[in-house]
Amino acid sequence: MNPVLEVRGLRVVFDGFAALDGVDLTVAEGELRFLIGPNGAGKTTLIDVITGLTRPAAGSVRFDGVELVGLREHRVVRLGVGRTFQTAAVFEELSVVDNLDLAAGFRLPLRSLLRRRRGISDEVAAALETAGLTALADRPAGVLSHGQRQWLEIGMLLVQRPRLLLLDEPVAGMSRDERERTGGLLERIARTHTVVVVEHDMEFLRRYAREVTVLHQGRVLREGSVAEVQDDPRVREVYLGR
Ligand code: ADP
Repeated sequence: MNPVLEVRGLRVVFDGFAALDGVDLTVAEGELRFLIGPNGAGKTTLIDVITGLTRPAAGSVRFDGVELVGLREHRVVRLGVGRTFQTAAVFEELSVVDNLDLAAGFRLPLRSLLRRRRGISDEVAAALETAGLTALADRPAGVLSHGQRQWLEIGMLLVQRPRLLLLDEPVAGMSRDERERTGGLLERIARTHTVVVVEHDMEFLRRYAREVTVLHQGRVLREGSVAEVQDDPRVREVYLGR
């Protein structure tokens, strides 16, 4: 498989403290990769560097062979890298479908987006279906549950047609039922996209993760299947044994 994402020698320093200290990461096309590690390991910082939010002191991030370090966030998005944040950012007064339209239609004037629409695009309909929000299409986003908001945010990413999705703790704060639905959603998305998921929840990992990368103190401690990672005594010590 072709590598879509190639991170090499990434170093990020905050006030003399190395949040990332020589991180290498390769993600192949079509992978569903989980990124785990204790608090402060550098997971969010890694996503911030890939998406152009944080500039590294050293290292490179290649997406499809294109160097991302030095590019602004909107350029990275345009190249096909989408991310979610731990707190979903949706427009509360707008309906679910208008939120998706807005995300899909940067090219359209706002007025035409907010006007009553005759129908919805195939793309938005597909995102509603994938995110499991078809029945809620006309509800204002402000009334959605925490889980539904997360799905809407993922839907808003999908309509922007990213090739690589970076999801930061998508099941944090979700009920068991919402976690399961999110797992199903990830599996559906991973059929057509490369996905990197930051996640803490071990039960969720056992169920849905294939390849796992463990970060600890700004370095990659271990990579492998969930079983391999779980059996590694160093991982147990820093992460699982806590
Ligand atoms: P994780 O996502 O694995 O919990 P983070 O990437 O958020 O870890 O943080 C890694 C380390 O970098 C932590 O020690 C954190 O305090 C520090 N850090 C993250 N962002 C900043 C920042 N903007 N300024 C200073 N320190 C930061």
